[in-house]
Amino acid sequence: MSDHDFDLFVIGGGSGGVRAARISAAHGAKVAMAEEYRVGGTCVIRGCVPKKLLIYGAHFAEDLKDAKRFGWQVPECGFDWTVLRDNVLADVDRLEGLYQNTLDSHGVQVFHQRAVVTGPNEVQLADGTRHTARIILIATGARPAIPDFPGAEHGITSNEAFHLDSVPKRISIAGGGYIANEFAGIFNEFGAKVTIINRGGEILRHYDDSVRDRLLQISIKKGIDFRFHAPFEKVEKKADGTLTIHVTGHDPIEADLLMFATGRLPNSEGLGLEALGVEMGERGAIKVDGDSRTNVPSIFAVGDVTDRVQLTPVAIREGQAFADTQFGGTPRRVDYGCIPSAVFSHPPIAAVGLTESQARNKYGTVKIYTSDFRPMKNVLANRDERALYKMVCDSTTNRVLGLHMIGPDAPEILQAAAVAVKAGLTKSQFDDTVALHPTMSEELVLLK
Ligand code: FAD
Repeated sequence: MSDHDFDLFVIGGGSGGVRAARISAAHGAKVAMAEEYRVGGTCVIRGCVPKKLLIYGAHFAEDLKDAKRFGWQVPECGFDWTVLRDNVLADVDRLEGLYQNTLDSHGVQVFHQRAVVTGPNEVQLADGTRHTARIILIATGARPAIPDFPGAEHGITSNEAFHLDSVPKRISIAGGGYIANEFAGIFNEFGAKVTIINRGGEILRHYDDSVRDRLLQISIKKGIDFRFHAPFEKVEKKADGTLTIHVTGHDPIEADLLMFATGRLPNSEGLGLEALGVEMGERGAIKVDGDSRTNVPSIFAVGDVTDRVQLTPVAIREGQAFADTQFGGTPRRVDYGCIPSAVFSHPPIAAVGLTESQARNKYGTVKIYTSDFRPMKNVLANRDERALYKMVCDSTTNRVLGLHMIGPDAPEILQAAAVAVKAGLTKSQFDDTVALHPTMSEELVLLK
């Protein structure tokens, strides 16, 4: 123990911060944490977890329809948003409690207030108290970015979407990324008229062209309206509370709710970091080296605030690597290669590795194998939705460089296949594996 109050002071109790605090404490460090909102952070409180539960809830709309084709006599079903919302929020409370218990049981002292950095080894809490620590870890995450235009204050973000009183009849969602497309699917299944407003000309630009085109086609068929090349001009709120959204190049859009899903900015502002000379990159991301250390040797940062890859498992790995390296005597670094990701749209997308165009840019020629099929369940359900699996391979070695999927359960299937892609397996090694029949995932070893 040094002459500081703590060995480690973590600011932010989200995915990265909780993992770093818990593991550092398990390694024997004296650890404190400040959390200004709720322990668990974005993922648990207003991100991955409640969103996935809403997606499960939304999927019943299709399942109930399909059930009739499988012989179930389903009476006219109604949907009660408040029941789902309250059950989801109760589960979030439960998880928050579990996170708090874990920190308590590891002896992490949690201050439920905002913290700022007042020196290379000093933190100040909102109540004015100051604490010193040998190492300070910034794990403050990111916040929704809201475009600046007249009337933008009439919109909400995903933070508020989990708490709505009712499902809006008409919702416009600004953005083209995964959060926009996931919430478009959720509200569409709940019966809202959904319009996606996109400044650019495409959705999900980090994903492979084929799977995102497929999602666009299916989404349009399901009734989601897309307005592309549609920058905001203004939003007017009428006396009855409804909105008229003016975007360039399109007719005004009438809506009951506008939700911004226009990116997430690192939460680095107002933390006192500029005064200490901590280097920031684009969009306010805290710059760190491979050990998550900033240019101020006693200050580290992990998770979304560093804007490396804004995903929970990445924040967790960064927190774990930080704790093992600084307090566990087992230095390790996060490997950012082949990180799988998903879009929990209806149907979902999942991907790992290079897209076809990234691979062509990097390797010149590549071999592409695809399977474009109608899942068995969709056939019987009379559901005219095709799945698409695409494998991108190095044309000389046949090593699998990328795998891209859209179809039912794609994220569940891809996680296992991602192990093979990460391990550098070849197309023939996939083909050497006997198919597991009848499944959708067998297509992965039968790609042509
Ligand atoms: P966070 O989890 O955001 O935690 C940061 C914490 O710091 C917050 O609790 C905040 O209150 C606190 N804080 C900030 N400033 C201070 C301060 N000065 N003092 C004290 N406390 C402070 N990722 C996935 O992998 N899969 C998904 O399906 C997925 N879905 C998502 C859906 C939505 C709607 C959103 C918004 C995000 C989603 N994400 C998903 C992203 C994921 O939530 C984040 O990547 C992850 O939470 C980042 O963890 P973090 O520790 O960096 O920050």
